[in-house]
Amino acid sequence: MSVSLEERFQGSLLGLAVGDALGGRFEAQSAEHLRQRFSGVESLINYVADEIWYTDDTQMTIALAEVLADQGEILEQPLCAAFVANYVPSRGYGRGARMVIEAMEEGEGYQAVASKHFPGGSYGNGAAMRVAPVGLFFHDNEARLLEQARQSAFPTHVHPLGIEGAQLIAAAVAYVTRSDEFKRDDFFRLLISHCQSEEYREKLAMASETTSIEQLAALGNGIEALESVPTAIASFALSPESYAETIGNVILLGGDTDTLAAMAGAISGAYLGVEAIPKRLLDRLEESPKGKAYLRNLASRLLLKYQATHSG
Ligand SMILES: [Mg+2]
Repeated sequence: MSVSLEERFQGSLLGLAVGDALGGRFEAQSAEHLRQRFSGVESLINYVADEIWYTDDTQMTIALAEVLADQGEILEQPLCAAFVANYVPSRGYGRGARMVIEAMEEGEGYQAVASKHFPGGSYGNGAAMRVAPVGLFFHDNEARLLEQARQSAFPTHVHPLGIEGAQLIAAAVAYVTRSDEFKRDDFFRLLISHCQSEEYREKLAMASETTSIEQLAALGNGIEALESVPTAIASFALSPESYAETIGNVILLGGDTDTLAAMAGAISGAYLGVEAIPKRLLDRLEESPKGKAYLRNLASRLLLKYQATHSG
């Protein structure tokens, strides 16, 4: 299999947006309810008949990708400015994120708002859901990748488990961006080597042995990074050759369906490329000013910046 870097960059950003938009339809529903409604992934995807709209996950990812495409690295000030410029509160932002971004908007010390709202820092999945562009941009530089994933988390997520979740998704995206053939054992060995906490080490060991939907469900479907990052990674590893199965299986788990499918879709899209996203879904992704055409173009800009940075 040979997938170009351009197809991978586009596949990851559009794969994230499509997963987010489809998952966003079912946020907070239960697995039981979804299993009654849909017989499987195919019926879930065939159900989509009209336009699908992405949520805060994609909106914050766009902010990160814009900063990287412009600056070649994540810096705090441009990142906060990009969060503010892309902020549309109706896109499903959590209450904490809304307060922090609104403080940034008003030029207040947002750090104080962040630490007041999330004492000790947020360990939610909000940093992991938006980190895919870091994985793409630094796919061949592991040290820089981990440092930049941490940097991209900081404005909102200073809790170690929130940051670690972002680093693991970035490392997963980077690994598959480098891969023509998926080597499951290698993939999990690398991710486990990046774990700093026992909690993630245990969860990723479970993820590495996940071969059924029941085991996938046991990894969690919640908004905490620890309850969703390993699940998204495991779903990709369960169906590395199918974008539809990768996002469909996590959506059918219920819970934080938009973020689970955004993270899983970003990894799958980076591995398989944009052509692997079902046409039925991609065709229906919103055509707004920062919709599908913008995302495709942003992925190409990100790649151009990557290439410029690497040509010396
Ligand atoms: Mg969301």
